Amino acid sequence: MKQDTPTPASSATQLIGVVSYQGDFQRHIAMLSGLGVATREVRSSEDLVGVHGVVLPGGESTTIGMLMERFGVAEALKKRAGEGMPVFGTCAGVILLAEEILNSTQPRLGLLPVSVERNAYGRQTESFEAQLNSPIFGSAALEGVFIRAPRIRKWSSEVDVLAHFEQDPILIRYGSILGATFHPELTQDTRIHRYFLDMVKIAHESQRG
Ligand code: GLN
Repeated sequence: MKQDTPTPASSATQLIGVVSYQGDFQRHIAMLSGLGVATREVRSSEDLVGVHGVVLPGGESTTIGMLMERFGVAEALKKRAGEGMPVFGTCAGVILLAEEILNSTQPRLGLLPVSVERNAYGRQTESFEAQLNSPIFGSAALEGVFIRAPRIRKWSSEVDVLAHFEQDPILIRYGSILGATFHPELTQDTRIHRYFLDMVKIAHESQRG
């Protein structure tokens, strides 16, 4: 199918860093590799040198955040993101990107002007799937896999909401930062990753002038 074919022009020059301490980073790497993109596991600030975009996977946001601070990745990532490098967070990744995490002082990057609540769908529905509609991804629904997902409780008017589940924004974009409270990397649907790769391509081209 056409929409599952990577565009060679966008993949040839892209190197995507995937923060790889804990969580489902391998699934992101597998999906990106399947799209023909080079990836690098990021565990130190040096690993960020030369990458064109970074993925923050789902997992345990407290653990990932603590390790990112310990190994200097948090500081280096904030600097690169401030220079316009795209970052894509899924689930715990959104928590790590948020400015505010309700009832928590855990480390975060604060790159997304949103307030999130962790594990906010309650014990009964710790994990669930939902069909998500998002006009920018065409008429076929996105498959939303939610695992102990955070809920975005407040967001700045500058945040673009790309998809909702019930009343909640679940796919958002703020400039070069993309966040999904669910797990597109656990499905076969590559549309959101390809959307991120397009963001990376545009950012990369505009930086080269
Ligand atoms: N509940 C986890 C956290 O708060 C996130 C879950 C996930 O990434 N699937 O860190």
